[in-house]
Amino acid sequence: MITGTTQQAQTVSTPYVAPVHAEGVMLRSLTKKYGSFVAVENINLDIPAGSYCCLLGPSGCGKTTTLRMIAGHEEATSGDVIIGDRRVNDLPPAKRNTAMVFQNYALFPHKTVWQNVEFGLKMRGVKVSDRAQRVNEMLEVVGLSKFGDRKPTMLSGGQQQRVALARALVTRPQVLLLDEPLSALDESLRVKTRSELRKLQRQFGMTFIQVTHAQDEAFSLADQIVVMDHGHIDQIGTPAEIFSAPASRFVARFVGDNNIFVGKVTHVTPNTNTALIQLEVDGLGTFLCRGQAADVGMTAACSVRADRMVLKPHTPDSHASNQISVRVAAVEFTGYVTRVSLLLEATGEEALYKVRTQDWMAQPLQEGESVVLGWSTEDCIFLPH
Ligand code: ATP
Repeated sequence: MITGTTQQAQTVSTPYVAPVHAEGVMLRSLTKKYGSFVAVENINLDIPAGSYCCLLGPSGCGKTTTLRMIAGHEEATSGDVIIGDRRVNDLPPAKRNTAMVFQNYALFPHKTVWQNVEFGLKMRGVKVSDRAQRVNEMLEVVGLSKFGDRKPTMLSGGQQQRVALARALVTRPQVLLLDEPLSALDESLRVKTRSELRKLQRQFGMTFIQVTHAQDEAFSLADQIVVMDHGHIDQIGTPAEIFSAPASRFVARFVGDNNIFVGKVTHVTPNTNTALIQLEVDGLGTFLCRGQAADVGMTAACSVRADRMVLKPHTPDSHASNQISVRVAAVEFTGYVTRVSLLLEATGEEALYKVRTQDWMAQPLQEGESVVLGWSTEDCIFLPH
């Protein structure tokens, strides 16, 4: 791993940067097959101009393939890539008005920082005098003005990442594509660079499409998160929507810290906004949750965030819904938050409870102690699949 603990350049500054004319991106029935293997299947997605979109999902789910089809580095098997109002499937990468930042930065080792940033402009036939002005401006934007004469190997990981960004941004693309741009940085630099990326995106007003497998990165950067699984889109939403209302068991598991219970729908009370759905969970009883339509008899699940649970120190009322008997299995102090692993007494499965450390300290429980875990119907999200 490359770390950037020495020779940190100043952070991204805010010189005036004229906004670019951003374009939106539309994917229509986009599919990529490698032989008989389907890497991306029938994807439909609208990314508004000037927004920050993160393609989020586990390794192998098809995010990089999708990004590469937008860039033109990978040919679509079927479907359309539309940038602005142009179908670009048949255009080479250089004609798409996009630029790409690669995971390993892909800087030219024999060129200086200045020459690396200049490269794209040279390729586009920009005049020498204009090139100089634009490269200098861009190095100032990413806080590397003093590093123009250095070779990439003489820079820290964070600085190399900024050179890669400057090299992509200097061509003023309408869409910037970023493939795991922070994955080679250590944790503290990752967090710092994350906020700089967001700042640059706002400053330029450009459409950013970023591939990541880290939900914290997607949550902190994106206007729109696209959660992918096995070549499909599972959910598209704002970070708040994905966090508080996952649409499937996969998303609820992937965003983490959700307790998921699988059962059978036994009753549905329709409502104008969300239906009240009753789920019978084997061994655990009746759970009431909120969701869109459901059919009585279907197998489905519900999800409750670990931080929306409450612990009550008394025996459960056998007629009450949304509560179960648990035993404290392990207590993990993580700073502001304490994570408590709970063993469901009826099934032996595990559940997670998260609480502010300050609140836990006020009423701590011992490992092995029996309590009741409960939650409100409003916090219990119905997951049809
Ligand atoms: P990661 O986070 O690990 O990069 P990803 O979500 O970006 O994963 P992709 O790189 O898009 O995943 O790959 C999607 C699937 O397509 C994977 O199963 C991968 O093995 C397969 N794949 C990618 N490129 C090729 C190729 N050139 N030939 C055959 N299969 C490929």
